[in-house]
Amino acid sequence: MTGDPSLSALSSIRGQDRALARLSRILAGGLRSGAVLLWGPEGVGKRTTALALSRRILCAEPQEGAPCGRCLSCRTPLAAHPDFHLLEPGETQSIGIDAVRELLRGTLESSLVSPVRIALLDEVHRLTPEASNSLLKSLEEPSDNLLFFLVSPSPDRLLPTLLSRLLKVRFLPLSDGDLAAVARERRPESPPEAIERALPLSGGSAGRLLGLVDSP
Ligand SMILES: [Zn+2]
Repeated sequence: MTGDPSLSALSSIRGQDRALARLSRILAGGLRSGAVLLWGPEGVGKRTTALALSRRILCAEPQEGAPCGRCLSCRTPLAAHPDFHLLEPGETQSIGIDAVRELLRGTLESSLVSPVRIALLDEVHRLTPEASNSLLKSLEEPSDNLLFFLVSPSPDRLLPTLLSRLLKVRFLPLSDGDLAAVARERRPESPPEAIERALPLSGGSAGRLLGLVDSP
């Protein structure tokens, strides 16, 4: 095992049973091309889910729906994985066409350690119109064994033509029970009162709750 948290992350996703069930159905159908949009509020597990699913799909011998942790793919960190390509805006406000072209070029040069290549685009609503069109063109001529995961809290900001090409999976705000469980797991040293106090301000987002617990 590499100790990469994405290898075991799927079992840590809370409160998204419907989204995970839908994703399971989509992937059980043998989806090996096209694009899936994971959308819903910030901080509820969309990106973590996309990373964990990528691990499972890239694994040469998944076991009971989980990556094996032993094959060459599982032993390769995602950042260095030749069949995994991540595009995220980082500090910049938008994702331009050059970044998308570079991503798409990278997917063509994959060495196929895994049965499928994956491109993950986080904050995909930040694509410029030109970048969106470049991605759209690629989706209109789907390559075999190239699967896109797109992540966004604001699908209404995507080009309608792009949106219409995506399989959409909705993530929901988390319940107080799930939020408290996440906080206890991720911040075991935090006093329960601090977690209780932050719950009503978190808006169903574990990301926001952890931020509040960290800097009350
Ligand atoms: Zn594996």
